[in-house]
Amino acid sequence: MVRYFNPDSNFDRILTTKTMRSFIFFLVVGFQITGYGQQAFVSDADRIIEFPDIPGYKTLKCDFHQHTVFSDGSVWPNIRVQEAIKDGLDAISITDHIEYQPHKADIPHPDRNRSYEVALEAVEGHDLIIINGSEITRDMPPGHSNAIFLEDVNRLNVKDSIEAYREAKKQGAFIFWNHPHWTAQQKTGMATLTETHKMLIEQGLLDGIEVVNDVTYSDEALQIALDHDLAILGTSDIHGLIDWQYGIPRGGHRPVTLVFAKEKSKEGIREALNQRRTAAWFNNLIIGKEAHVKPLIMESLKVTKAAYRSESSVLELEIQNLSDAEYLLENLSSYTLHDHANVIAVKPHKRTTLLVKTVKIMEEVKLPFRVLNVVTAPKTNPDITLSVKVQG
Ligand SMILES: [Zn+2]
Ligand SMILES: [Zn+2]
Repeated sequence: MVRYFNPDSNFDRILTTKTMRSFIFFLVVGFQITGYGQQAFVSDADRIIEFPDIPGYKTLKCDFHQHTVFSDGSVWPNIRVQEAIKDGLDAISITDHIEYQPHKADIPHPDRNRSYEVALEAVEGHDLIIINGSEITRDMPPGHSNAIFLEDVNRLNVKDSIEAYREAKKQGAFIFWNHPHWTAQQKTGMATLTETHKMLIEQGLLDGIEVVNDVTYSDEALQIALDHDLAILGTSDIHGLIDWQYGIPRGGHRPVTLVFAKEKSKEGIREALNQRRTAAWFNNLIIGKEAHVKPLIMESLKVTKAAYRSESSVLELEIQNLSDAEYLLENLSSYTLHDHANVIAVKPHKRTTLLVKTVKIMEEVKLPFRVLNVVTAPKTNPDITLSVKVQG
């Protein structure tokens, strides 16, 4: 039985007034305690991952490693699609484990393409690209790898692990090594190339490597990518919910792979991956080859104002940041700054003012910076130069 609210009842009126009072009390006190008064919620528009295109290429945001109830994930594939749309992604792959099926008793599915098919139905009417993929889940070596652009996942369900890689390649797949630094398979946390991996690379059976998986990063994986010309990838490997795992309401974001593609299409992504035009975006880090990340920094940062402060030789610069990254610029010039020490944080989607003491009045100023939140090799950050024309 349900007891309905009766506004004519004295009891209910007292109850309501009391409830309202405690509710208002909670609002006033609760907001102060939790700090909601000062801190805005992240809106749907704010959570969209944004980076500018670079000359000649579109910057596509992709997550090629995700799980659903069709292996050991906790959600139906349509939730993966909705999360990706909310994050403004361009492409995703749902890569359920072929060999690990803990929900099999409740969700028997002899056809291992089902999570892809369900996602395809869910994406109708949106321009999110879904790529059919799967996680080849084996002991080390070779450990876990994702094969994407598959035609039929079922044919990879074979005993011999190398045969699964060969079958994936036969279908035209792009294959990347997952979490090579995962401590469950690599106690030291140091991604290490085994003889098996060398053989896979030599035979063209391994095209990429995760330098970022979920909340972890690997310098050693990045070095392997650079030494063996593998694509650099960052993925969520999400099993639960993106919003919870990455604190979206607090301004967090999932790790993604930035793919620099000639066009937004499956073929465009495949071509870019095969040409290794990728970078990983993780926390506030951008990880990639200099050839890709330098243009990304240059397209992100635009000087919108450059003028001397009246009666002085202090040059006021305004730098607009068109990306989600907070760029940390270390001043490499001989000039000192009027409002910063040697490191400047250029906030995402904001304009940052910089005061440069040029001593002499200049018409043009070259300002070299090291970009500390961008990594091109282990312990290596790229340098950029902002060429500034002073406004008369
Ligand atoms: Zn895995
Ligand atoms: Zn996984």
